Amino acid sequence: MTEASLPRPARRFDSVGFSEIVRVRNRVMELLAAGQKVWRFEGGEPWMNTPEAVKAAMTDALARNQTRYAPSSGIPELREAILAKVRYRNGIPADDESPVVVNGGMQGLFAAFATLLDPGDEVLMFSPYWTPVVDLVAYHEAKAVLVPTAQARREGLATTLARRTSSKTKVLYWNCPNNPTGDVFSRREVEEIAEFARRSNLAVISDEAYEDLVYEGEPSVAIASLPGMYERTITAFTLSKSYSMTGWRLGYVIAPARYQSAVKTVVLYSTNGVSTPTQWAAVEALARGTEYVTEWKAGYRNRRDRLAAGLAAAGFELKTPRAALYLFPKTPSWLGTDSRQAARTLLDEAKIATVPGIVFGPEGEGHLRFSFSVSDETIAGGVEALAAFASQGAGRR
Ligand code: PMP
Repeated sequence: MTEASLPRPARRFDSVGFSEIVRVRNRVMELLAAGQKVWRFEGGEPWMNTPEAVKAAMTDALARNQTRYAPSSGIPELREAILAKVRYRNGIPADDESPVVVNGGMQGLFAAFATLLDPGDEVLMFSPYWTPVVDLVAYHEAKAVLVPTAQARREGLATTLARRTSSKTKVLYWNCPNNPTGDVFSRREVEEIAEFARRSNLAVISDEAYEDLVYEGEPSVAIASLPGMYERTITAFTLSKSYSMTGWRLGYVIAPARYQSAVKTVVLYSTNGVSTPTQWAAVEALARGTEYVTEWKAGYRNRRDRLAAGLAAAGFELKTPRAALYLFPKTPSWLGTDSRQAARTLLDEAKIATVPGIVFGPEGEGHLRFSFSVSDETIAGGVEALAAFASQGAGRR
C-alpha cells in the first residue's frame, strides 16, 4: 500500500501554512549543533524567568492536590480575577460570564476565529501582521483581506478599510500593540476604527498580547472599552508576555453574550480547559497586577535603544517603536531588499539570526525583525558582529 492510497488529510490544510519562523529556528539549531556561535534575535519572548511567586503558587496548588478537572472555562477564582482586571485596567464593561480561560493567546485567537467564521467570510486585517493569523483564517476557510497599515494611516483608516470591505466582510482582526512593528494606535485612531466597525456592523477580534509592554506615551486602548464595542468584540489576552510565562500556555478571552457559548464550546471540545495548577499560578500573577512588568520595562527600553543604535550605525533605517519586543528596520542597501535573502546572508555570514519581514505580509518585505528581548551579551555581541559585517558589506559594494 502506498501512502497516497490512504485517506487524505482534510482539504482545508491545503491552504494552511506552517510557520516559516520555525524554519529559521531549525537553521539556527543546525548551526548551533555544528558548534557555531549564533547571535539570536529571531525569538519572541521575554528574556527574564517567570517570577518566583508565580512558580510558588503552582507548587502550592500541587501540594493542595488541585490536580483534578476544573470547569472547562476556568476556575471561578481566576475568572473573577480576570473580570476585575479587564474592568479596572482595560475599562471593558465585561459581564460576569465573559471570561474564558484558554491555553495562551493562540488558543484564544483560534476560538475567536472558530466562533465567527464561516467558509467564504472575509476578514479585514492590517499588514504587517503576526504571521499565524492568516493561517488561522485559512484554516477556517475564510479569506484574509490585507490593509496596508502605512497606507491606511496616510490616506485615512476608515476610507482605506471601506475600500476593502465587501458584502462578505464579517470580521476585523486587530492587533495593538503590533507584532512585528511595535506600533501602537492612538486613542483617536482606535476611535476611528471602532466607528468604522460599528457602521459596517463588523465583529472585532482584538489581539492584545502586548498590552503591558508600552514603554513611552499613552497606554494602548482596548477597543472593547469604547462605546458600542464590547458587544461585538472578542478580546484575546495572554499572560505570556506580561508575566514572562510563554511556556505555561495561559491566556484568557473576553467574549460578549452573543459569542460566549461558541467560544466555550471550542475550548470544551479542543482542550477541555487549562491545566488546573497552571490556573492557580495565574491567580497569583494577576493579583500582582503590573508589578513585574513595570520593573522589567527599564531593561527592555535599554536593550531596545542599544540594539536600535547598533542597527542605525550599520545602515539600517528604523523608527524606534514604543511597544512590544521587536525592531523592524528596513534592510540597508548592502543587504538588498529581498528579506529572505537578507536574513539568510546575515545568518550564514555574520551568524546573526533574524526573521525576514516578508513572513509578516507583503508590507513587511524589505524589512527584518530583530527581537530586543535578549540577553545583554546577545545585544553587545550581536551589535559588534553586525558592525564588523556591515563594514565588510559596505566595502563589497
Ligand atoms: N498575538 C501576538 C501578536 C503574538 O505575538 C503572540 C505570541 N508571539 C500571541 C498572540 C500568542 O501568544 P501566546 O504565547 O500566549 O500563545
